[in-house]
Amino acid sequence: MIVMKFGGTSNEDAAAMRNVIRLVKNHIDEQPVVVISAIAKATNELELTARTAALGKEDEAIAIVTRLFERHNTIIDNLLVSRSVASELEGIFFHHLAEIKALVKGIAILRELTPRMLDAICSYGERLSSRIIAAGLLEAGVESEWVDARDFMLTDDNFGRAQPVLTAVEVNLEKEIRPLVAQRKVPVTQGFIGITRSGEYTTMGRESSDYSASIIGGAMNAAKVQIWTDVDGILTADPRVVKSVKKLKRLSFEEAFELSYFGAKVLHPRTMLPVIEKNIPVQILNSKRDGTGTMVDFHFDGNEEQPDAVRIKSIAHKNDIAVVSIFPRKRFSPYMFWEEIFNVLTAYGITTGMTATSEFKIAFAVDETTVSEGLVHELEKFGSLEVLHKKGSICLVGKGMRGAGGILPRIFQTLPDFQVYMISFGASDANITLVIDDECLHEAVNNLHAALFEHDELPGMFEELPH
Ligand code: ASP
Ligand code: MG
Repeated sequence: MIVMKFGGTSNEDAAAMRNVIRLVKNHIDEQPVVVISAIAKATNELELTARTAALGKEDEAIAIVTRLFERHNTIIDNLLVSRSVASELEGIFFHHLAEIKALVKGIAILRELTPRMLDAICSYGERLSSRIIAAGLLEAGVESEWVDARDFMLTDDNFGRAQPVLTAVEVNLEKEIRPLVAQRKVPVTQGFIGITRSGEYTTMGRESSDYSASIIGGAMNAAKVQIWTDVDGILTADPRVVKSVKKLKRLSFEEAFELSYFGAKVLHPRTMLPVIEKNIPVQILNSKRDGTGTMVDFHFDGNEEQPDAVRIKSIAHKNDIAVVSIFPRKRFSPYMFWEEIFNVLTAYGITTGMTATSEFKIAFAVDETTVSEGLVHELEKFGSLEVLHKKGSICLVGKGMRGAGGILPRIFQTLPDFQVYMISFGASDANITLVIDDECLHEAVNNLHAALFEHDELPGMFEELPH
């Protein structure tokens, strides 16, 4: 079996849903389990409903959510031919709207929105969209069956960022989903949401439908997990910054990890964890344009025929970086000093993708927004601080870089006029990261892209994008 996950823009209206149905039919021989996100913007609107209610504006909140339900009913009307199926769904949705109105009333009276209430309201997005897709598939002659995530996706009760209880989820999937697959049915379920032991809906964090897909794929040993989205796959750079981007045919998990960590909007690192363990490939595909997408899998190590070739595959960049340097006040022993500094960072929930140390001094690059007064105050207990603002990072990703001797000169040749504040190279075999001035970031990324990707040194690795 495979998992096919469709994101919000893949479900935005009846035409988009018809396309989802077409894609599922195309893959029917691979025995898909379908994971659905809420329709485009639905989660935002549900969240807005809840937050508006918390301000005591009950009528306004109800108006927002009523419009959202009307949008769903329009999709039903435009998608489904059978009036009886359509009105059955509309009946269920009417009931759901009444449930939300009751929640809104409670929130508006108390003027308090707990994470539990927010999850209860946000869960409806996926619950509605998944039902429409399941009905649409049935009507299109696919034996689909709607399965509520509450029947298998057991999570803890960290509302808003719930974690699945994997052992239980695995057992539940064998009971609830596997038999359907065995009967050649197509189960349709929701991403994003889960259920606590006491039966309350949870959500696993915004944009976590991919994570749901990967949990299901991992637990059921899927042949692969397909993430159907609105981009052609993983690209050589951000297309908003570089015009001539190409698509990568294949990437390793490690490379995808580095890319997403350093700012590329590809797969969330968390999404990859459940499938990495089982060595299950993840394919990123555009639901609006036929193509082969990008395959992210395990031991892909560049181009086997050219083992010495430089294998930079993609450039990620991030704005709004600050470089913080600390000079120890007292003569701490080096590791005491490091320990104290990292304890402070941990206490503030800060991870830094980049650190540099000299004999005593420590420098690290962090998101500008994390440099709070409190953090500065805590760090100043251990030494004097220098904070450089308005920096940006560029991360060049590609496995096998450490062995590729010529790569550093090539990179620096393209950046002769840029001041470089930090470099990280060597900790991972798959990335080189530089910190430069934020205002030069786009120019530098374009220079690097031209130097590294214009001549296709690794035939077969990239694909031009269709226009
Ligand atoms: N619908 C949820 C969100 O918008 C989950 C997802 O789309 O992945 O955050
Ligand atoms: Mg989404």
